Amino acid sequence: MTAYDAIIIGTGQAGPALARRIAGVGMQVAVVERGRFGGTCINTGCTPTKTLVASAYAAHVARRGADYGFSAGDVKVDMKRVKARKDHVVGLANRGVERSLKTLESCRVFEAHARFVSPREVQVGGEVLTSDRIFINVGARATVPNIPGLDQVDYLTNSSMMDIDFLPRHLLVLGGSYIGLEFGQMYRRFGSEVSIVEAGPRLISREDEDVSAALADILAREGITVLPGAKCLRINKQGDDIVMTVDRGGISELRGSHLLIATGRRPNTDDLGLDHAGVKRDQRGYIVVDDELRTSVPGIWALGDCNGKGAFTHTSWNDYQIVAANLFDGESRRVSDRIPAYALYTDPPLGRAGMSEADVRKSGRPVLIARLAMEDVSRAFEKGETEGFMKILVDAETKEILGASFLGTSGDEAIHCVLDAMYAKAPYTLLRRAMHIHPTVAEFIPTMLDDLVPLPGSVAG
Ligand SMILES: Cc1cc2nc3c(=O)[nH]c(=O)nc-3n(C[C@H](O)[C@H](O)[C@H](O)COP(=O)(O)OP(=O)(O)OC[C@H]3O[C@@H](n4cnc5c(N)ncnc54)[C@H](O)[C@@H]3O)c2cc1C
Repeated sequence: MTAYDAIIIGTGQAGPALARRIAGVGMQVAVVERGRFGGTCINTGCTPTKTLVASAYAAHVARRGADYGFSAGDVKVDMKRVKARKDHVVGLANRGVERSLKTLESCRVFEAHARFVSPREVQVGGEVLTSDRIFINVGARATVPNIPGLDQVDYLTNSSMMDIDFLPRHLLVLGGSYIGLEFGQMYRRFGSEVSIVEAGPRLISREDEDVSAALADILAREGITVLPGAKCLRINKQGDDIVMTVDRGGISELRGSHLLIATGRRPNTDDLGLDHAGVKRDQRGYIVVDDELRTSVPGIWALGDCNGKGAFTHTSWNDYQIVAANLFDGESRRVSDRIPAYALYTDPPLGRAGMSEADVRKSGRPVLIARLAMEDVSRAFEKGETEGFMKILVDAETKEILGASFLGTSGDEAIHCVLDAMYAKAPYTLLRRAMHIHPTVAEFIPTMLDDLVPLPGSVAG
């Protein structure tokens, strides 16, 4: 048995940074990784998808050449080269994480599966490691729904999509949420036929109805078949086709050449031996943590997707910052201090901060809203990318910004103006006086706040 000052299980977004921090104060740290260094974000999540989205965007703009005054001829996407570009970018990031850990003084890296055998001991291959401080950063994986026949077909997930170096003739996407929409739009732009099947009444059901509707419209105009309210009853193979039987008020069949399952994620906590350590999980398998990311067992923390407190790279990174600040800097940082924020990388992207319109309505407070169509934003107009809209929600009494949704070109960047004002707890009037740069999408944030009106359906409306 080998003793360490700390053990870190998983090298997602929190683990490597924490290892560097722990080793930096001279403690001996063991890092265990069973898969690829850098975890989901780098290998099968953000980095590859955003690299592929960039290729798809370039092809889309080339096809729109006539709108801009040029001709790129017949645009054909070479998927082998698209994949090679993606692999290059992913490889740099993946090797960077591996090298940084393997060359870190006071750090020993184990490439194996880790499993708890007691609250202080972790089995790693043939060895047992022991420590008083164990940090779990094991992430999540694609959920595969229990649909009759699914186990009889070769389906794809976000992980196996990374190996595709050909153009699927017709990609069926099961799941109309963030991952499904990003893949769906990118493959349409690569040249596939795409159908998105969503059981719920609308796409991205966590977003406001106007956001869902606008995005469904944008995707449909690109030639994607969007099927909300479609319950998949059965899947089977007929010749080269994958056939989905769906119920949309009547039974029909949908045929495609490939099937992507994008119906959610589940935490990698089922094969971690958590019962041997006494670490509690909730009903969905997420590790139960307090506001400082301590599990039910003293000396064990859980960070990143596996704790159910966030499902993003930035939430996992923020978890690292919270744990490191509390352990090493004498601070008292908490998960509840952070403001929900994320982006959906369709084109145009959706940038989100804080509460949605539906959330604020439910909260029962008086709310004001400002809304601006991207058609009225000069930068969007100049770029020829006028789809979408921006909206900001303000508490009518405190004047603090409660949330914002920016569906539009640069929405993923511009949202940070609002996010930072929210962190500063500044009244919206402060943002209204800021002089922003012309021409940018962000320049319209101060001016749109001149046009706040009561939100219909809220106390103020
Ligand atoms: C297609 C897709 C696109 C995404 N796009 C975005 C985006 O644009 N922006 C964003 O913020 N987020 C995005 N996400 C989410 C983001 O990737 C994750 O939230 C983030 O990677 C979570 O990281 P993590 O630190 O929790 O762990 P992970 O990155 O999941 O890493 C966990 C690591 O632990 C290892 N591991 C698991 N169990 C064990 C074990 N028992 N022993 C040893 N090692 C183990 C795994 O091999 C893995 O390397 C996307 C996700 C997907 C799937």
